[in-house]
Amino acid sequence: MLRLKNKTVLVTGAARGIGEAIAKLFYEEGANVVVTDINDELGKKVAAGIGEPSCYFHLDVRKEEDWIEVRDFVKKRYGGLDILVNNAGIAGILETRGPHDPENLDMESWHKVHETNLDGVALGCKYGIQLIKNSLSGSIVNISSRSGIIGIPFAAAYASSKAAVRNHTKSVALYCAEKKYPIRCNSIHPGAIYTPIWNVMLGEGEQRDHAIKVISSEIPLGVMGEPIDVAYAALFLASDEAKYITGIEINVDGGILAGSAASPPSK
Ligand code: NAP
Repeated sequence: MLRLKNKTVLVTGAARGIGEAIAKLFYEEGANVVVTDINDELGKKVAAGIGEPSCYFHLDVRKEEDWIEVRDFVKKRYGGLDILVNNAGIAGILETRGPHDPENLDMESWHKVHETNLDGVALGCKYGIQLIKNSLSGSIVNISSRSGIIGIPFAAAYASSKAAVRNHTKSVALYCAEKKYPIRCNSIHPGAIYTPIWNVMLGEGEQRDHAIKVISSEIPLGVMGEPIDVAYAALFLASDEAKYITGIEINVDGGILAGSAASPPSK
């Protein structure tokens, strides 16, 4: 049985990585998917690979005018929306000049990271609620990060923005419940999922192999995750199987947030 049969879904940042995996899986589960991104070339390819009645729409999550356009487009083409996945996000290392440590923060970089990761999600929730409140059973899934729960010394803006997404998710969940809107809202906290967001941090060739080994050695499950691991968590939260679940967070992190590996050695 298809878990998202006849649902209309919008995924942000869906041209690659986790967003792409979510768009593909949701389509396989019966949804019409609006693939959105700023990377039009890759985004169109993803939508074409999925096929009709799914489609691609340019959406820069930072821009309110883009959200208004996509809202009007979705209303006209699909009659409404059932599920929104606020996935688009940046680490900020490549996109801004930094530094990102608490002592030397470059404030312009700080704001740029928050503009995409936090303002983008807040705008998504604003227009998502407007679109989804007429659905029979709706869901907003916000992609935060393990860094929304713990600090990151040299990526403080990223961690702060993701912590705010975690909190805003709960405000949205409670607001929709109070208004008796049929919208649940939950967050996912991925950690170490192997996607292009890691490119600049991993380097190339042997350096990359070594970096992956080091990162993997610090993950309880011993490997980096795959985009599909996050997509399955999103599928559950988006589907009616999660009809009594709102305001929660799911960690998809190979056990990283379960605690420190610095435990006493076993005998
Ligand atoms: P990714 O491979 O870099 O993909 C992100 C996509 O979002 C790219 O297509 C990017 O386009 C797009 N994007 C960037 N800024 C945008 C904007 N303003 N409006 C619309 N789209 C925009 O990243 P990912 O690893 O799949 O990450 C997806 C989400 O998961 C992010 O929110 C990230 O913070 C979160 N996350 C990832 C991990 C991980 O380990 N991968 C861990 C924790 C959380 P361009 O290619 O043009 O930049």
